[in-house]
Amino acid sequence: MGQRFLFSAIYLVIKTNDIRFNKPSLVGKEFAYIEDAVARGQLSGDGYYTKKCQKWLEVKIGSLAALITHSCTAALEMAAILCDLKPGDEVIMPSFTFVSTANAVALRGATPVFIDIRSDTLNINPSEAEDAVTEKTKAIFVVHYAGVVAEMNDFRDIADRHGLLLVEDAAQALGSSYHGAPAGSFGDLAAFSFHETKNVISGEGGALIINNPDMIERAEIIREKGTNRSQFFRGQVDKYSWVDIGSSFLPGELIAAFLYAQMEMEPEILARRMALWDTYHSAFSPLAEASGFATPSIPPYCDHNAHMYYLLLSDADVRQNFIQDMGATRFLTEDYLVFLN
Ligand SMILES: *Cc1c(COP(=O)(O)O)cnc(C)c1O
Repeated sequence: MGQRFLFSAIYLVIKTNDIRFNKPSLVGKEFAYIEDAVARGQLSGDGYYTKKCQKWLEVKIGSLAALITHSCTAALEMAAILCDLKPGDEVIMPSFTFVSTANAVALRGATPVFIDIRSDTLNINPSEAEDAVTEKTKAIFVVHYAGVVAEMNDFRDIADRHGLLLVEDAAQALGSSYHGAPAGSFGDLAAFSFHETKNVISGEGGALIINNPDMIERAEIIREKGTNRSQFFRGQVDKYSWVDIGSSFLPGELIAAFLYAQMEMEPEILARRMALWDTYHSAFSPLAEASGFATPSIPPYCDHNAHMYYLLLSDADVRQNFIQDMGATRFLTEDYLVFLN
């Protein structure tokens, strides 16, 4: 099949379905909850809506604790502190990820060790990850690319055998699962993003999920500028003070109010995204083999969350032609950048 024909076919699918990469929208009671948050008289963090969001996550993931943060980047930085990363420590992670995974490690003075991804799921390859373990390795940071959960049985096994901490960068994976268990439930820690390009959004936003009971108390402290303020509010100490390093990782109540309205609508958001994803998939799959491009491959035991749809073009030249062709004909505006991910 000619390249032109292929490009037009792709364009037609995008255009007729009006599928855009990122158009943040209201899906439920966002404004009503923001108004309510103001009426409740607390706009700083850890108020009514923060607790609602955290409870929602704890139930959804089945985690011991969830703490919302101002970004997934912040949650990853908290994870790096909780792993006690120090200069000389190594952390294994996929080379194909967003910068925040690596930054969190580098900010502690530790060394990111990049591992290649599998060509099918684009997730970090467990056997290559295990080959990279040294006596300096402290943790593995796994990424669930495009909301397809990585091989967590293998990674849990590797982590246990080598005494490593396991962290999930689940930024793209809210609502995904692996062998029936939710993304975010496998690592000692997991980080989610509610950035406006993700499925459930609050503009900027994130969460740290804590599955390791030994890390809960310290996580609260790190998030509250290194103070034991949370214990103070629960009446567990009679004054609060500086007890550890930390920063201000929590969002204000306006963000939490917006986020909770989105969380309530998560099943509807997922269903809508899945319908679009399926439209893409049934349109592109029949063209793929003859045209020399690949569509996403989802292992049968993974339920993905339709976070993104991508096509893998055969090489860099074809990809460049594709971008140019779409651009020249105004096919590819910023709204339609979904294919270049
Ligand atoms: C979006 C994303 C992040 C960063 O999320 P923010 O909430 O914007 O900080 C980190 N890792 C991955 C894999 C992401 O996709």
